[in-house]
Amino acid sequence: MGEAQVSLEHLFRVFTKPEHKDSKLAQIEQHLSDNILDFLSQHVVTKKTSLEEIEQDFSDALVPESPEFVSSHAESLLNKLVAHSVNTYSPTFIGHMTSALPYFHLPLAKLLVGLNQNLVKIETSKAFTPLERQVLGMMHNLVYGQDENWYQQYLHSARHALGAFCSGGTVANITALWVARNKLLGPQKGFAGVAKAGLAAAYRHYGINNMGVMCSKRGHYSLSKAVDVLGIGRDNLITLPCPLQTLSPELALAEGKRYQEEGNRLLALVGVGGTTETGHVDPLDELADVARELGCWFHVDAAWGGATLFSKTHRAHLKGIERADSVTIDAHKQMYVPMGAGMALFRNPQDANTVRHHAQYILRQGSKDLGATTLEGSRNGMAMMVYASLHIFGRRGYELLIDQSISKAKAFASMIDAHPDFELITAPTLSLLTYRVCPENVRQVIKTANPETRARLNNKVDGLVVNVQKLQREAGKSFVSRTRLESPDYDGRSITVFRVVLANPLTTEQDLANILDEQSRIARDRHAWKELSKSEDLLTV
Ligand SMILES: *Cc1c(COP(=O)(O)O)cnc(C)c1O
Repeated sequence: MGEAQVSLEHLFRVFTKPEHKDSKLAQIEQHLSDNILDFLSQHVVTKKTSLEEIEQDFSDALVPESPEFVSSHAESLLNKLVAHSVNTYSPTFIGHMTSALPYFHLPLAKLLVGLNQNLVKIETSKAFTPLERQVLGMMHNLVYGQDENWYQQYLHSARHALGAFCSGGTVANITALWVARNKLLGPQKGFAGVAKAGLAAAYRHYGINNMGVMCSKRGHYSLSKAVDVLGIGRDNLITLPCPLQTLSPELALAEGKRYQEEGNRLLALVGVGGTTETGHVDPLDELADVARELGCWFHVDAAWGGATLFSKTHRAHLKGIERADSVTIDAHKQMYVPMGAGMALFRNPQDANTVRHHAQYILRQGSKDLGATTLEGSRNGMAMMVYASLHIFGRRGYELLIDQSISKAKAFASMIDAHPDFELITAPTLSLLTYRVCPENVRQVIKTANPETRARLNNKVDGLVVNVQKLQREAGKSFVSRTRLESPDYDGRSITVFRVVLANPLTTEQDLANILDEQSRIARDRHAWKELSKSEDLLTV
């Protein structure tokens, strides 16, 4: 490994613009770029190296003493890092919300890093700040659809914010509930407000016993982090059972009333617009009514499903989202933007002022610094990637992508239904579904067996599903994730299921058929399958 010299003169060279377009750096760039493109055309996992083996390459906790040549370091990154990365671009990688990106993001990423703007303050992001405000405005418009004059009034107003751009859905959810908290426990005569006086003083002042946030059991775990960091406490995240995968408005209303009658205050009701586990959408319109009746904030977590609003055909699934006080949307999910692009949008552009922060050297009164209302401080210009994508795809482009993902999910659900070795567990509302592998005769017996036998058989099937998922992942040709879900068909007990997110536009129905074939082959080879299939023994296994 080449060891570079240590002198300021040499280090200055790293900061100096290369003179020729065929310079050493340009060669390194080309080399890296070629390698990445090669990598992305391969299987899901390129080398069968165990995690423990990979850890060996990253086991030294000592800062290197001497500099290294960029060229030799690039080589080492290719060997240690790129070679063992997960190919999320593969059309057979259908297990997660992270998927392939359009290739135009590669040159755009160079622009982003090249300019290195900091969105915390105008002084380091003069053009990027208006751009980010415009992006927030376009997304706000997609959700809330106010008129042109309304947007002209608020888009670039120093005293308002249509939303907060952030690193992802987690920070967006935290931001939304932070705004809700500060609004509910805001300043009054004799009280400085929670932002200044803290939670203990706020509870005393407002006579609150406990404050809670309510969602269904399918609510994303980031909500649990949110109530933790906001001082509300994880015990006060009220997660209601949802055997049918969506939050029942009647249950939400009853539980919300009961909670408040006990002397507690419900801060927010959260509806999910596309759950992470099954892709279901809560009945948002009805939940908006419930929130109004309970007198609490209504937040919609549409981190994943929000992009459905681009589709005229499918946006009706999210009906009622426009009544939310705040909405989370991740551009790095179904908007095909690189990771690090989340947004919290506020129906009322005044609301973000409840968290507004001023400092002497930046974020001065009256400045348009975005950092005054964002949780994060220094932030890069990821909004540019959203801006570019919105222009390059246009609403109609996104509509096509969303529509084809959903119709592919429906086609896959039909394939699963028609296949004797599989059982569809949750049908797709959007482009996410769950299913499991299970011998056909067992599926017949399991439905009519007594609860004890049913649980025993389900345990065996669970083990089989876990095994198949692991072996398929290790084989490296394709990837499907797994989770556990309570199933109304099985006495509300949890069962293990495969989880599929159809995001990559290049995934074909043939790819999906091959994945089922592979799973069926792996399953039929397992001892558990053979045991389960001996129908005469079924009731005694
Ligand atoms: C992905 C997701 C989140 C979290 O977003 P990150 O970008 O991973 O922080 C929150 N809620 C839902 C519904 C999600 O799908």
